[in-house]
Order: sequence, then structure tokens, then C-alpha cells
Amino acid sequence: MKTIPDPTRYQQLIDGQWSDASTGKRIERQSPGHDKTVSTYPESADADAIAAIAAARKAFDHGPWPSTSAAEREAVLRRTAELIRENADRLGLVECLESGKPITQAKAEMGWAAGIWDYAAALCRTLHGETANALGESLFGMTLCEPLGVASLITPWNFPLLIISQKLPFALAAGCCCIVKPSEFTSGTTLELGKLLSQAGLPDGVVNIVTGYGEPVGRILAEHPDVDIVSFTGSTAVGKKIAAGAAATLKKVSLELGGKNPQILFADAEIEAAADAIAFGIYFNAGECCNSGSRILIHDSIADQVVERVLEKTKKTRVGDPLDENAQVGAIINQSQHEKILQYIEAGKKAGASLKTGGEVMESETGRFIQPTVFDHVPADSSIAREEIFGPVLTVIRFSDTDEAIRIANDSLYGLSASVWSRDFDTALRCARKIRAGTVWINTFMDGAPELPFGGYKQSGLGRELGPEAVNEFTEVKTITARLGPYSDKWS
Ligand code: NAD
Repeated sequence: MKTIPDPTRYQQLIDGQWSDASTGKRIERQSPGHDKTVSTYPESADADAIAAIAAARKAFDHGPWPSTSAAEREAVLRRTAELIRENADRLGLVECLESGKPITQAKAEMGWAAGIWDYAAALCRTLHGETANALGESLFGMTLCEPLGVASLITPWNFPLLIISQKLPFALAAGCCCIVKPSEFTSGTTLELGKLLSQAGLPDGVVNIVTGYGEPVGRILAEHPDVDIVSFTGSTAVGKKIAAGAAATLKKVSLELGGKNPQILFADAEIEAAADAIAFGIYFNAGECCNSGSRILIHDSIADQVVERVLEKTKKTRVGDPLDENAQVGAIINQSQHEKILQYIEAGKKAGASLKTGGEVMESETGRFIQPTVFDHVPADSSIAREEIFGPVLTVIRFSDTDEAIRIANDSLYGLSASVWSRDFDTALRCARKIRAGTVWINTFMDGAPELPFGGYKQSGLGRELGPEAVNEFTEVKTITARLGPYSDKWS
């Protein structure tokens, strides 16, 4: 194992001031790959959450940000993108140490995050309302696109800087003021981002960052009457609590939740490419990925061949020290997730699925590592076929015709993403149209760009991130109607 740097001591950010939690309590984060403390964050309390909301409210109601010009907002977002790139090595290291993901992937994610800030910067200049000029001689209408207000942004641990970058630059582009709560496991890069935003010229109070647990901090951010929108990424179970908490004040809710994403391989699929995408789709980020391609549906005629290739790739997958530049899969985020994955592996065996490889904890001096695992002949109604495992565990289900494949693919509470592998355009596109998921890839997996909207059908979420729509989540439309010339009586 490589040398671990001394822990970084972080503070929370409220109204431009860095401080400890009002209670003085702290959270210690141990690296999942090394069992060493790498960061400590304030365990923000009720009072801190409420102070952060008040700061964002003040910045929105009285501050300059909501009325700055699009050009000024664009400049701040572009500068932030540059600063993320300039600091990518440091940010990547923090992300690697706190999350357990491999260092090369952590650093690459910083580039993707910066690209989203650039895209949101460009959107600043396109925000506008419309005019209605054909309402008759004496009526004229227009719409204004206004910032929604105060936004609570709550994020999970699996892609900390990337996921906040799918929310915050769009909220800022719209002119909103924000309170951010990162996961208690991986708050470091979000707090580092707070420093970069000040450097980029963002006024105090526009972005406030509190750390700590879902209870009380996340709950308060979701429920508080001074918050106008809560944008949450995380588990479906917590997403439901957020929606319930937000309902009392009918605030807008945007949810990016879990998935059990199918990759469907038809008889004419390109086997080499699909096998690569299957291994990447399940082992990337140790399978701790909302988009993880965890359900593979393969046509009977090619199933044995595909499984064989996937097993070869699985056995060659390099699991190890997240700081090792050669590692492809790192450590599991925390003990409870580690145990949950192992319980699913046991459930798979009990359900009669055929364990082809993996299924064990890997030997290591420190940390938590699980072998890349493949189950074949998985009963479609078993828990490993239906529930989000969030680990490096692949489930293979076989099918004999297109309707059966689509039926199995759609037989899920989730609808985040899917992919279709076929060289036949009709098969691929027909299947893509029938699958109830927010993203469907054809002959690829987890490809994308900030220009393309992302979000879930069914219990995978509400609303869309990325793409031109992303900024609309954070705006209100105001209609202005004017009568030209003399008023015509309506009552007398
Ligand atoms: P989680 O739901 O446990 O926690 C997410 C965040 O919510 C954390 O910041 C947590 O502190 C906070 N939280 C917990 N309880 C809360 C409450 N009662 N009120 C308000 N906030 C609360 O999720 P996680 O374990 O951090 O992340 C894994 C989950 O996230 C998986 O289900 C995964 O599919 C999902 N995810 C979805 C996407 C997507 O874009 N759809 C992306 C990444 C992760």
C-alpha cells in the first residue's frame, strides 16, 4: 500500500465564513482502502443547517447574484471549470482516499466535472423567456425566466464532485442561491469546491456548504419553509423521505435515485464489444454506480459465448489499492455496504443462481475489497435480479425472444438506464423505444456528454439533470400580460 498523506481538517461554509460545527463535533473519514483517517469534517447540527438556509435566503432576497447579468454568471462558472482542472490532481487524490475509487478514475472524473461547469456556463447566455405578439391589437404577453429561489442540494458518496457538478452550476446559472450537503462519507471535494467558488468570484452566501448526517441536516434542508427546491441524488428510500418532507411546503423536488439497469444482448450483438461493456458496466466504480449495468439479458443462442468472454475479463480485472495507478477496481465505501453486498451474494446462491466466479472477500492487509462476481442463470424473480446491490456483482438472465427481453427489462421498480446490443437498426430502435428508462444506449454503455439529459423513469427519479433542461429545474416562468391602449370594461 502507498503512503497516505496526513488527514485534511475541513470546515463548513456559511455566508462566506468557514467554521466548525456549532456543537464542535466532527466526523472522521477513514480511507476504505487503507483504514487510515484521511479527512475530518464538521458534524453540522440543526443550528448550522438553519444558519446556512438563512444565509442562502438573504443572498437570494437581498444579494446581487439573482440579478447579475448572464455574462457575469457565465464568467464565474467558466473560472470554476478552469480551477477544477488546475486542481484536478489534488481533488482526485481527496476523492480517491475518501471513496476508495482508483486514483486514475478519480482524476478523470475531475475533467468530466469541469466539462459540466463549462456547459452550464454556456447555458447562462441562452436563458430567456418568450413573447406572445399575436394576441390581438390591444394585448401583449411575455414570459420571464426567473431564478426559482433557494435550492438545497443533497448528494451521495459514489461520485461526489461529479454529482454536485450536475446540480450546482445549473442552479447558479439560473440565479439561485444554494445550501449543499455532501455525503458524510465523502465531503472533502465539495468543501474544496467551496474554496474554488470564492476564488472564482462568487459572492458570499450564494453557496453554503454544511456537512454531517441525513438526520438532522439533510432532513432540515428538505423540509425548511425558506427552501424553494430540493434537488437530491441518492437512494430511492431516502428520496421518498425527501419528497414526503418537502410536501408540507409544496416545494419543488428533483430526485436522481437508484437503478437496476439492464443490458440486452440480441442474437446479432457484437460479442467482443458487448463483453467489454458488460465488464466495464458492472465493475466501474466497484459497481457502486446508479447507472451500473447490473442485469444482463442475453439471447439463448449467444449466452454461453458471452458469459465465457465476460468471465475471462472478470478474472483479469485488477482490484487493489486505490492509489495504485494500475487498479481498475478499488475498495468498498463502508462496512455496511460491504456486508450488504456479501448478503446479496449469499442470497444469489440460495436462490439457485449459478456462481461462475468471485463471491468472496479479497485478502488484503487493509481495507475492504470484494472479488468481481458473476452469477449466471439467475431466476428473474430473485432479489439479486431485482434489487440494487451497488457492488461488483453481475446477474445474467437468458431470454428466447424480443418480447420476453423487453418484459424482463421493464419488470422493475426502477427505470434509470438500459442498453440494447444489436446490429439490426429496427431491433435496436424498437427495443429502445419500448424500454421504460430515462437513458437507453445502443451498442455502447455509459457514454454521454453534458448536453444529454439524465434522469429516471418510475422509482429512479423525478426531473432531469444535464442537457438544456437542467437549468429549467431551477427557474420559474412568470407571465406578464399588458393591455395596450384604452382598458376595455369587463364588469360594467
Ligand atoms: P443515501 O440515500 O443513503 O444518501 C444520500 C444523501 O442523502 C447523503 O448526503 C445522506 O447524508 C443524505 N440523507 C440520508 N438520509 C436523509 C434524510 N432522511 N433526509 C435528507 N437527506 C438524507 O445514498 P448513498 O448511500 O449516499 O448513495 C447511494 C445511492 O445513491 C444508490 O441508491 C444510488 O443508486 C443512488 N445514486 C443515484 C444517482 C442518480 O443519478 N440517479 C447517482 C448516484 C447515486
